[in-house]
Amino acid sequence: MAVNFATKRDSAYLTESTLQASEKGEYLVESHNVFTWFPIKGGLFSRTIANVRAVDGVSIGVRRGEVLGLVGESGSGKTTFARTILRLVNPTKGEIFFEGTDITKLKGRKLQQFRRRMQIVFQDPYASLDPRQTVRSTLTEPMKIHHTVQNNREANAAAEKLVESVGLNPDHLARFPHEFSGGQRQRIAVARALAVNPEFLLLDEPTSSLDVSVQAQILNLLRKLQSDYELTYLFISHNLSVIRHLCNRVAVMYLGRVVEISNSDDLFNNPKHPYTFALLSAVPEPDPQTRFKKRAILQGDVPSPIDIPSGCRFRTRCPYATKKCAEEFPPLVEVEPGHWIECHYDIDYKVAKP
Ligand code: SF4
Repeated sequence: MAVNFATKRDSAYLTESTLQASEKGEYLVESHNVFTWFPIKGGLFSRTIANVRAVDGVSIGVRRGEVLGLVGESGSGKTTFARTILRLVNPTKGEIFFEGTDITKLKGRKLQQFRRRMQIVFQDPYASLDPRQTVRSTLTEPMKIHHTVQNNREANAAAEKLVESVGLNPDHLARFPHEFSGGQRQRIAVARALAVNPEFLLLDEPTSSLDVSVQAQILNLLRKLQSDYELTYLFISHNLSVIRHLCNRVAVMYLGRVVEISNSDDLFNNPKHPYTFALLSAVPEPDPQTRFKKRAILQGDVPSPIDIPSGCRFRTRCPYATKKCAEEFPPLVEVEPGHWIECHYDIDYKVAKP
């Protein structure tokens, strides 16, 4: 049914991360064993009585110029991890490197310099734009704060160029957000992120609040901008079709940890972790013959991040769980070159019975 890693590849156990196999300088952004916990206070002296373990030891690297997708159900910790990477939330433990500099140790002006290079586009363009600011000031204000322009004339010229690059026109600069459709607002949000010449863009479900017809336009725009400006993306989504359309590699998150990471084709054609297999089985396919003949149905909800199951955290929902899964934390193993999973077994889904 499955190859048991404990018997087959003791020597191949990796305790920390896929980063150990990387070459120096390969990654623009790296997270090393990052934890983001939120304490719950209680009792007479308001002591910490539990922790919400939103991110629970994530080590991944985003290669320069790639689009790395981050998928998982809601509650898997994707957004908290993304915000931790940008230092919008401070990690409880761990290191985050941007081009070799540990940004968890930076403060004040130095941190602000790195912030310019790492920008975010939020899910909801209705909430993320200031309704009292025109598009012009939405775009020129960050340029002035980060000193990427010398004067107003330069800022206005840059704003005109930016709106054109996202498919709007300079006449739009004088308008307010409420005068635009959802898709146009998201174009403005993308332009604002690009206003300070970043190298890394974190896209947090950028199309999920838009109509399906508009989603494809925004995805195509993001793809074009990535190539025009040589950007690196971390693209967060729960929509696997969107991830497949845009990403070179994909990391799958479950209950605060990355349980599988691989290049996109391998992950979609040959998923190895039972959680990924179940997520992909749930995607409707026009021709079922072309996809997995066997299907896995995810039972129940993601357990609470306050009370994480022992051993493998997916075991309460995994149809292949064994006694060992409850007792031992699964290692991160490279099952094929560049394809890593956090599981005790290498399951062959063609023959394995849940
Ligand atoms: Fe693998 Fe975890 Fe499932 Fe065990 S419970 S088979 S370790 S995913």
